[in-house]
Amino acid sequence: MVEHYDVAVIGAGPSGAAAALHSVRRGFETVLIDSAEFPRDKTCGDGLTPRGLHQLNQLGVEVNPTYRNRGLKLHGFGTSATAPWPSTYPCDEGTALQRHRLDALLVDAAVAAGATLLAGNAATNPQLDGNFLTEFSVGETQIRAREVIVADGVRSTFGQKLGRIWHKGEVFGIAARSYCESPFSDEPWMHSHVELRNEDGVVQPGYGWIFPIGDGSVNLGCGALSTAQRPAKLNTKKLLSLYASQQRDEWQLGPEKFITSAALPMGGAVSNVAGANWMIIGDAAACVNPLNGEGIDYGLETAALAAQLLGTNKDLTLVWPDLLRQEYGEAFILARTLARVLTYPQFLPVAGPIGLRGPMHLAARLMGNLITDEDRDITARLWRAAGSAVATARCGSPLWDSTY
Ligand SMILES: Cc1cc2nc3c(=O)[nH]c(=O)nc-3n(C[C@H](O)[C@H](O)[C@H](O)COP(=O)(O)OP(=O)(O)OC[C@H]3O[C@@H](n4cnc5c(N)ncnc54)[C@H](O)[C@@H]3O)c2cc1C
Repeated sequence: MVEHYDVAVIGAGPSGAAAALHSVRRGFETVLIDSAEFPRDKTCGDGLTPRGLHQLNQLGVEVNPTYRNRGLKLHGFGTSATAPWPSTYPCDEGTALQRHRLDALLVDAAVAAGATLLAGNAATNPQLDGNFLTEFSVGETQIRAREVIVADGVRSTFGQKLGRIWHKGEVFGIAARSYCESPFSDEPWMHSHVELRNEDGVVQPGYGWIFPIGDGSVNLGCGALSTAQRPAKLNTKKLLSLYASQQRDEWQLGPEKFITSAALPMGGAVSNVAGANWMIIGDAAACVNPLNGEGIDYGLETAALAAQLLGTNKDLTLVWPDLLRQEYGEAFILARTLARVLTYPQFLPVAGPIGLRGPMHLAARLMGNLITDEDRDITARLWRAAGSAVATARCGSPLWDSTY
């Protein structure tokens, strides 16, 4: 059986569901495909910074309306600091919502807007004519679409068949999450513990988090940065349990439930993210902030960007990676470089205590990449200048380059 669409979107996580929603709203007949049935779980911290919430507001999808947070509280090295979300960003509040709920909300919104959902079968067997994707299979069905958006997540099994390569020499994340009951589930701050020690007391290059959800539970997890040269030698699930035991009394935590772990590519460290009529977005395109591991927002943003190119009849092979570099290139290269420094074991124990006593109002803004092109203040100018200088210095490193 052959089905024809204007646009096919592979993967119905936040990136794919948002892309399908944009696509139908632009008038394209759109199919949204996922190997899973919804609702489905996804390993995540569930945190939505103002960047993510802003995108959801733009989409008109209301998320966890009874809970909002005001910024970050950072702890470690004998001190704590409060970093409110910056008032300069178009949205100045954040939230959190379990991914099985968030992702289902977005899929429902796409379907309600008119997208056809094919759930429960993976997209496989792409047929290429040069780098033009002519058709692929979903179960017994052949899908032919004029344009295809690939949003198949970290492993990007479909993307790999199209030639997508993940460069593990660049910094990437490994992380685990769990859910715990807590009477402080309404606490209006996201908490991060940057002095994350293993059972031998050694500081790890990452952080633990407790993100309140407002429903009687918190998302508790930990993550570390790694590179092929300096792999983080840790068991994230074990570290999570240790971290939970350290936080148990203060947060009156119930037992950790639903512990899962995953790796995440970051900062655009992948190649071959587009062909003549297809674009890779979200995690599959390594659109994750290396400084805080957030990717839901970039998934939603890249969905909106990709949707703008639909129906333009352009060969997307170079247009799409060029657009990604223009939007995120300098910020991601700078963040990737700073994150790489954190993987040196000597760095964090020395820099951590100094950093936490620094100007904390800047931390949430810089870590969250909450600087807009319109911002003209000194911090924004310095951040952009540093991004530009690092991008020039590291111009050979992989950043959505194309080898077609
Ligand atoms: C432990 C951890 C904590 C995190 N915490 C946060 C956080 O607090 N805030 C934040 O913003 N980000 C966080 N992230 C990152 C965030 O989870 C991802 O950036 C986000 O899920 C990206 O969404 P996506 O739609 O690109 O991919 P996904 O959400 O992974 O969706 C991909 C979808 O594609 C489907 N799929 C895969 N292959 C196929 C195929 N061949 N055919 C059909 N369907 C397919 C999958 O079933 C899946 O539904 C965290 C990540 C981890 C691992």
